[in-house]
Amino acid sequence: MEQKCLFCGIASGKVPAKIIYDSPDVMAFLDIRPANPGHVLVIPKKHVETLPDLPDDLNASLLQVVKIIAQAQVEAIGAQGVNVLQNNGELAGQAVPHVHVHVIPRFKGDKVVINYSGLVELKEEQFEEIQKRLISKAKELASSMSTGTIKEIKEEKLPEPEPEQKGKKKLHKFKQRLP
Ligand code: 5GP
Ligand code: ZN
Repeated sequence: MEQKCLFCGIASGKVPAKIIYDSPDVMAFLDIRPANPGHVLVIPKKHVETLPDLPDDLNASLLQVVKIIAQAQVEAIGAQGVNVLQNNGELAGQAVPHVHVHVIPRFKGDKVVINYSGLVELKEEQFEEIQKRLISKAKELASSMSTGTIKEIKEEKLPEPEPEQKGKKKLHKFKQRLP
């Protein structure tokens, strides 16, 4: 396997790491600078830089291992919750340019802070415009995927705008969802 980065080195066994799981396609090992004890990184062995570049078959096996690790953290080290995080691109905080999923066990009173909720305010039209663009691209991408079930996207119309009710906050109905 071609050595392109630090995680390629770990995948090939040339760089030492505390390995938790090793299969032909996927490896999981302890993060050297953990957020909590038991913080694991899950990688495809093949060098792929970001999630959007990941081949469909590897995507499926990667998520399967993420699930196994999360379950092991709960059942073997007493995690009371688990965060699954994945950074793509320098701007998003990706330091190692080889796809990796952080699986972080959570414990009551730990020091982990994750803050992404409610940071921007969007108008109704902005929600709808973004919804429209993403639906259209997601459909196109899903229809060309090699995996089976994701192709069966429900065909539903976009929701009709509802009249504003006085004094009541309008709820967004995202009826057209990916399965
Ligand atoms: P990123 O910021 O790219 O999402 O995460 C990279 C992660 O790789 C960091 O959490 C960092 O601690 C971890 N890391 C960096 N170098 C090494 C290493 O040599 N061995 C291991 N096991 N983890 C590493
Ligand atoms: Zn690599």
